[in-house]
Amino acid sequence: MSNDRFHNIAEAERLFALQHTDANLQLAKGTSEKERIARIRKVERYLLDEKHQQEWTEALWHDLHKCREEAIATELLPVLACMKHIYDELHDWVKDRPTGVPLAMAGLKAFVRHEPKGHVLVIAPWNYPLQLAINPLIHAIAAGNVVLLKPSEVAAHTSAFLKKMIGELFEEREVAVVEGDVPTTTALLAKPWHHIFFTGSPAVGKVVMKAASEHLTSVTLELGGKSPVIVDDTCDAAKAAEKITWGKCVNAGQTCIAPDYLLIHQSRLEPFLKAFAERVERMYDTQGKGVRASQEYGRIINTRNFQRVKGLIDDAVAKGARVAIGGELVEDEKFIAPHVLIDVTADMAIMREEIFGPVLPVITFTDLKEVPALIARLERPLALYIMSNSRRNTEFLLHNTTAGGTAINDVMVTASNPLLPFGGVNNSGIGKSNGRHGFVEFSNERGVLKRSWGTLSMIFPPYNSTLMQWAKRIARL
Ligand code: NAD
Repeated sequence: MSNDRFHNIAEAERLFALQHTDANLQLAKGTSEKERIARIRKVERYLLDEKHQQEWTEALWHDLHKCREEAIATELLPVLACMKHIYDELHDWVKDRPTGVPLAMAGLKAFVRHEPKGHVLVIAPWNYPLQLAINPLIHAIAAGNVVLLKPSEVAAHTSAFLKKMIGELFEEREVAVVEGDVPTTTALLAKPWHHIFFTGSPAVGKVVMKAASEHLTSVTLELGGKSPVIVDDTCDAAKAAEKITWGKCVNAGQTCIAPDYLLIHQSRLEPFLKAFAERVERMYDTQGKGVRASQEYGRIINTRNFQRVKGLIDDAVAKGARVAIGGELVEDEKFIAPHVLIDVTADMAIMREEIFGPVLPVITFTDLKEVPALIARLERPLALYIMSNSRRNTEFLLHNTTAGGTAINDVMVTASNPLLPFGGVNNSGIGKSNGRHGFVEFSNERGVLKRSWGTLSMIFPPYNSTLMQWAKRIARL
């Protein structure tokens, strides 16, 4: 596909101007809960329609070699879960929330009204190009916003599907898609949005936040980083390996909340390696023809990223790491077999950069007390996983680390519960999404006070002793 297709600055400007009128934003603000749900249902029906299912699953196959089953499990089902949650809860979220008032404000009523932020820009990444475009989109619609969606040009087939779907379902003034490369996105970022929801790398997250600061536009940044998984000496290494193998290999490791690196108690290393190798075989080599022949194992999105991941392996090996599992890389196919690297040290690039590929570097420890310091050397992670059968150890790790989200004795599932906030902390993200948290992120929580009786005239000049008596009581002056 030609890059010209994504060089759309004029189209981006046209859509911004068309959507960004007071009249249009007022219209969107007036949409009822029912109308918002009807819009989301349109998206749901479109995705479930047999012909369209064929289209988006094929797009994901072309972009990421993602098989139909994985596409349904990881791109569709999480979106459907969020949609259902919105259908069930939106009536509650949109209600004014009474807050009560302190005694000194007797006579006043207070409530929070959730109004749409207004005109929002959603910028999506390529790794789950359907899910991570539609999920923010439906929360933005639920909150009553006008939305412009910019999918990732790197997942070009899915970007084309999204453009077609939104074009067929919505008037441009309500929701529109602009396909775009970096110059197009840069032109979009220069506009005075009311909110920007960005999913992508911390490096580009900084570009987005800088641009947003020009207009003091609020941002949600769903970023990435190095998410550790910790296996302690109380843990069943085989059970942990099963989950970690899946977490590392699904979408060929290109998942923001994939376990990036493993910190494992020395006593568990051998059983873990054995179980990891067995699991790879059971998941991706049932015919004995090698993982490369599996239709269920993905590919690296493009040659640039293939070279990047290969570079991380090469650097680690040159500095003394050993490939305990894996070794096969085929550039033409952008294929990287599941890898486990041992004898890894903190100075290797693989222990500093987000891997975003099916490669698991392993560092061993003998005392759990060492672990928080190992994690704290890096930026605060998006996810942190604890594999342990000890409540004490689990509490120790929860207490002595920080992360956007944590799963205990599991991986990745944190993103699938719409009742939990999903997001990072500092370098791994700002703001939260999913469910009510996503709705609030796209809303202005407007504080409203209404006086029913009385007045606060005692604070008006000329000041008298009543004010000072009150002040003394309240402030114990
Ligand atoms: P990216 O930051 O390269 O790109 C994300 C989006 O930003 C794309 O739409 C792209 O077109 C645009 N973009 C790229 N460079 C830009 C620039 N210089 N100026 C303006 N816009 C630009 O990220 P990616 O490679 O698509 O995705 C991988 C990263 O995203 C990883 O770090 C991963 O951890 C993170 N991620 C986070 C989440 C999450 O929910 N926290 C989910 C998926 C991916």
